[in-house]
Order: sequence, then C-alpha cells, then structure tokens
Amino acid sequence: MPMSNDFKSRLQPVVAEIAAHYGTPFHIYDEVGIRETGEALKSAFSSIDGFQEYYAVKALPNPQILKIMHELGFGFDCSSIPELILSRGVGARGEQIMFTSNNTTTEEFDFAAQEGGCILNLDDLSLLDKVPQLPELVCFRYNPGPRRTGNIIIGNPVEAKYGVTHDQVVEAYRQARDKGATRFGLHTMVASNELDYTYMVETARMLLAVAGEVESALGIRFEFVNIGGGFGIPYRPDQQALDLPQMAREITALFAEYKAEHGYVPKMVMESGRYMTGPHGALVTRAINLKQTYRDYVGVDSCMSALMRPALYEAYHHIDVIGKADQAATKVYDVVGSLCENNDKFAVQRELPVIEEGDLLMIHDTGAHGHAMGFQYNGRLRPQELLLRANGSVELIRRAETNEDYFATQNFVADEFKPARQG
Ligand SMILES: *Cc1c(COP(=O)(O)O)cnc(C)c1O
Repeated sequence: MPMSNDFKSRLQPVVAEIAAHYGTPFHIYDEVGIRETGEALKSAFSSIDGFQEYYAVKALPNPQILKIMHELGFGFDCSSIPELILSRGVGARGEQIMFTSNNTTTEEFDFAAQEGGCILNLDDLSLLDKVPQLPELVCFRYNPGPRRTGNIIIGNPVEAKYGVTHDQVVEAYRQARDKGATRFGLHTMVASNELDYTYMVETARMLLAVAGEVESALGIRFEFVNIGGGFGIPYRPDQQALDLPQMAREITALFAEYKAEHGYVPKMVMESGRYMTGPHGALVTRAINLKQTYRDYVGVDSCMSALMRPALYEAYHHIDVIGKADQAATKVYDVVGSLCENNDKFAVQRELPVIEEGDLLMIHDTGAHGHAMGFQYNGRLRPQELLLRANGSVELIRRAETNEDYFATQNFVADEFKPARQG
C-alpha cells in the first residue's frame, strides 16, 4: 500500500480543517510514521554492532524533520554546503555527518572541515590531493562498473559518474594511507527505489568482499561499509513493500560470516532518504478547474513546482479524493497543474471518483524528493510544508514562497562590469 494507512487515518479526518486554516496547496508530513519507520530500521539491524543510518538530507531538507532524525540517533548524509548547514543546525557534529559529494569544490571541502569536520566520502582518487587537510578517517565511494548491473532507476554503473573503479580501489586506500589516513570506510550507492531486498543484500556482500580485498592487499581494516540509500517504497497500490526484516536477517548473517573469517567486522552504515520519509508525506491540493476536451482534466492549485517526480520520471503517485473514499473510481482524468509544460500532470488517465470543483485531492508519498526537488520555472512557486505532530497538532515548518522570494535574486538595476580589453 502506498502511504501508510495509519497516516491516512490520522490525516483524513482533519485535512479539510487544516486546508481551511492554512490554505492549499501544502505538503504535510507525519511525525509518528517517520519515527515508526526509524525505529523499525534500527530494530531490524540491531544485531549488527554499530548500525548507523545517515539520513539523506536531500530527500526532505527541513530542520524540523532533521531534528526528528537526530533524536532517532541518525546521522546525516550531505552533499552540499546548505545541507551541511542544516545538519549542523540541528546539532549534528563530526562523524554524525557524512559528506558524500561529487565533483567537489575546494570551498566545499573547506566548509566540510569546519565545526568539527565530518566524514569525507571521496568520489575520486584525485581528490586526495585537493582536500585541504586530509582527515584521519577516509572513505571512498566505490563504483563496481560491469561487476554489477545496477538497478533499473539508477542504471548501469559503467555509465555512472560516481566513485572509483574496481581497479582503482586498492590504490585509492594505499594513497590515503600513505598520506596519513589511519581509519577507513567504504561506500557505494548502486540502487534507487529498489523494492527487491535481495539487491541490497548483494550490495552488502559486494562491499564486504571489496573490504576484504583491500584488507588483504594493504593490511588495513575498515571501520564501516556504507551500502548507500536506494531502499524502495511501494508507490503503486499493487506493489509489495521491501521485505526489511528478511533483508536485515540476510545482511546480518553476512556480517557475522565476515567476523568469523576476519576476526573483526566493519560497522554497517546506510543512508536512506526515501525509505525514511517518502510514505510519510502527502501533497494536499484543491481541484479548481474542470475541463472537458479530448480528455477530462482536473486542474488543481499546485503544479510540478511542488512535486517533480511524475513529470520527470513518469512516476506514479497514488491520489485520493478526500471524502470520496467510498465512491467507485468511475471516471478517467488527467490531473494537471498550471505550468506551461504539457508534462505538468500529477496523474495521466487515472481512474478516480467523479471530482467536483473544490474537492481536496491527497497525492501520496511526497515525503522524499518531493518539495525538495521543486523549482520556480514559469514563475510557479513552491508551496508550504506542514508537520502533523504525534500529539495531533499541526506546525507550519516552511511557508509558501512569495513573489518577493521569486524576485529576491533579480538585479532590477544591473550590476555592470566592463572588461578592460573591450574595444
Ligand atoms: C540520493 C542519495 C541517497 C538517498 O537515496 P534514497 O533513494 O532517497 O534512499 C543516499 N546516498 C546518496 C549518495 C545519494 O545521492
């Protein structure tokens, strides 16, 4: 089932009142669901010493959400300066932050080193010479290339810009060690929205094998292996959820095996974004125009500036019409925004109950890579974000953008520069 039934049952009775108070559209997130998923993750991997989730900040970069993650004991996976600022803003320091950047600038490395630093997850060997000050703990992102087929969404690792190749991996740690690193981690990210748990088990197996290879070549030990993010969620009603308990059992067994063979075992680290928050968010938007031409259209008061995934990936997001749960889905609609792009559609040829102007639509599973991916193209602004607290209260955790925000970066009087060589 997309979106937890619990969240639905918490939100549905109050959503009209919330919409009346804050206006539409809004994303709303579910504190209870986020905490439950966090606890489930921790308990699934509790037999692995030092299991650690680093929440992928890009999925839902909001301080109130990050505060919940911090309280759950999770670290943060960041890849930009604003994400570092957000993570430090909720109190994360040092090794509670993993900086998994790629094509990194010196400015970013400098920033990452401040305020107690963070774990640097290096995307390439060449960066060893570019890090202003190499920390004692060094991690590389590993790209298995043809050794792994990649999952459907992330594609073929050979074509992925990330990470060091298999042939480079021993050399990368050799150079890091020679430059003074004494502690080591190993990372990969080869999946996105993967619902087949065996894929993640294979990723853990692959990383442990690489760790073993580097260990025997260089005599170094790994403090952690990081299997990345990419745990999937069922967006479609007919999809099965990832089998977390079974995945955790099999990964735990792999770690136990490694320990038996090597006399020690690295910590198991992951950096899920979508799995943690995706199902615990919904976009609530109102039907404002109904149109009948070659198709039946429902025009709503938000657009792809609030949720890019359907337009970008043709991703399915389930839609409920509030108050019409009991009505049969007898009509076929395209549910559309107002952007001057024909792919600005939340749903294409979707069977829904008959919709009237003023109806509230609840678009499921917008808690990750939803608002965060929004943009301002066409002068369409990003909507507000709300948080449904465990005590039933609702908080505005990001206001809607205003026209002033849109114009804030424009120079109405141009800042002029005349190159000296100009004729
Ligand atoms: C985007 C990203 C993640 C999170 O991916 P999800 O699919 O949201 O789990 C984790 N790690 C890295 C390096 C990423 O780029």
